[in-house]
Amino acid sequence: MRRVAIIGGGAIGSAIAYFLGADPAGEAFDITVVERDFSYRQASSALSASSIRQQFSTAINIEMSLYGIEFFRALGETLRVGDDVPDIGLVEPGYLYLASPAGVDVLRENHATQKAHAVDVALLTPEELKARFPWLSTEGIALASLGLSGEGWYDGYSLLQAFRKKAVSQGVRYVQAQATGLQREGRRVTGVQLDGGDTLHADIVVNAAGAWAAPVAQWAGIALPVHGRRRSVFSFSCPSALPGCPLVIDTSGIWLRPEGRLFICGFAPPEDRDPDDAPLEVDHEAFESFIWPALAERIPAFEAVRMTGAWAGYYEMNVFDHNAILGLHPDCDNLYFANGFSGHGLQQCPAAGRGIAELIRFGGYRSLDLSPLSFARILENRPLREKNII
Ligand SMILES: Cc1cc2nc3c(=O)[nH]c(=O)nc-3n(C[C@H](O)[C@H](O)[C@H](O)COP(=O)(O)OP(=O)(O)OC[C@H]3O[C@@H](n4cnc5c(N)ncnc54)[C@H](O)[C@@H]3O)c2cc1C
Repeated sequence: MRRVAIIGGGAIGSAIAYFLGADPAGEAFDITVVERDFSYRQASSALSASSIRQQFSTAINIEMSLYGIEFFRALGETLRVGDDVPDIGLVEPGYLYLASPAGVDVLRENHATQKAHAVDVALLTPEELKARFPWLSTEGIALASLGLSGEGWYDGYSLLQAFRKKAVSQGVRYVQAQATGLQREGRRVTGVQLDGGDTLHADIVVNAAGAWAAPVAQWAGIALPVHGRRRSVFSFSCPSALPGCPLVIDTSGIWLRPEGRLFICGFAPPEDRDPDDAPLEVDHEAFESFIWPALAERIPAFEAVRMTGAWAGYYEMNVFDHNAILGLHPDCDNLYFANGFSGHGLQQCPAAGRGIAELIRFGGYRSLDLSPLSFARILENRPLREKNII
C-alpha cells in the first residue's frame, strides 16, 4: 500500500485526504496528515471570508468554482458520517461587482468569459442597480455584474472539519506535529521529519502547508513563490437592514457582505503596503481612515455602523501570478504541491482536492484538467493572471 504524507491539515490538505480515500473500489492508500495545530488558530481556512463566486476572468478558476458550488450543495450527503450530516451554512445571495467608467471594458470582457462557461450572471445598469438595491449609492458607477445563482458564502471552519471527519472515517490518520524537514534521495522524497525527532516514511508527500508552504518546498530544494499576505477582516453592526444584500465589491476594492445579523468587510492593501509574512495583527488604521469612509459613501446606512470585532489571516499569495500552483515540480517525482491559492482557495478545495487525488492515483487528471495551474508556467515565465482578485 502506498504511503502518503500530507503536510498541512487545513481545507486543502483535508480535501486531498478525503478524495484519496473516497474510492473504495480503487487503490487504497495509507494516509497520514501532519498538522501542527489541531485548533487551527492561524490557519487561513478558519480565518477566511469563506465565499464562493463564479465571477473570475480565467476559465480554469471559473470551472473550479463551478465544481465547488456543486460539491458544497451536496456536501451534507457526500461528507456525512453515519448520522452526522455536516452543514456549512451555504447561502447564495451572489456577488455584486461594481465598475467605474474605467472598469467597464474589463467587466464586459469578464462577463463574456463567464457566459461562455454558462455562469448565471447579469450585467446591470446604474438604474437597474438602484431599482434592485435601493440602499446602494450608484455615484461613480457605470456598470455592475451580479451573480444570480451559484455564488455566496458558508462557514470555512465547518467545511474544513467536514472534510477532516470524513477523511478520518475513511481511515486517514491526523498527527499533531510540526514538519521540520524532508528526506530527499535523488529525484524522490522519502520521508517527513517531525519536531519530536521522528521521521514519517512516505512514498508520496503533499505540500498543503498554506501560507507556510515555501519553507516546505525549500526543504526539497524547490523555490515556491508563495508568501503569507496579511488580510484584515472587520465585522460591524448597522441599525438598518439591507434587503437582498449580496457580497459587494466596490470600485475602491473594498468588499463587504452580511454575516448573520452583522456585516463583514475587508480590502486588499496596495502592493507597496502589503509586505510578505507580516505578523497577524489587525490593521485597525485601515478601517478608520479608508474602509469606513468609503463604505459609508457607497451605502449611506453605514454612516451609523458599530464595529463589533476584527481578525487577521493570511492569503497564501502566489506572488508570480496570484493563482494556485498544483501538481509535481519537474525536479522531484513524488512531491505534490497544492499551494498559492491567493485568496480563493477555500472555494477551490473540492476541485484541487479531487485533482491532486487523481494525479496521485492515476498519474494524470481524469475529471477537470488542472494543468493550466502546473509549475510549468512559472518555470517558463508564462503567468496566468486572474484579473478578478479581491
Ligand atoms: C481573510 C481571508 C479571507 C479569505 N476569503 C476567501 C473567500 O472568500 N473565498 C475563498 O475561496 N478563499 C478565501 N480565502 C482563502 C482561503 O481561506 C485559503 O485559500 C484556504 O483556506 C487555504 O487552505 P489551506 O488548507 O491551503 O491553508 P490553511 O487553512 O492555512 O492550512 C494550512 C495548514 O498547514 C499547517 N502547517 C503549515 N506548516 C506546517 C508544518 N511545517 N507542519 C505541520 N503543519 C503545518 C498549518 O497549521 C495550517 O493548519 C481567504 C483567506 C483569508 C485569510
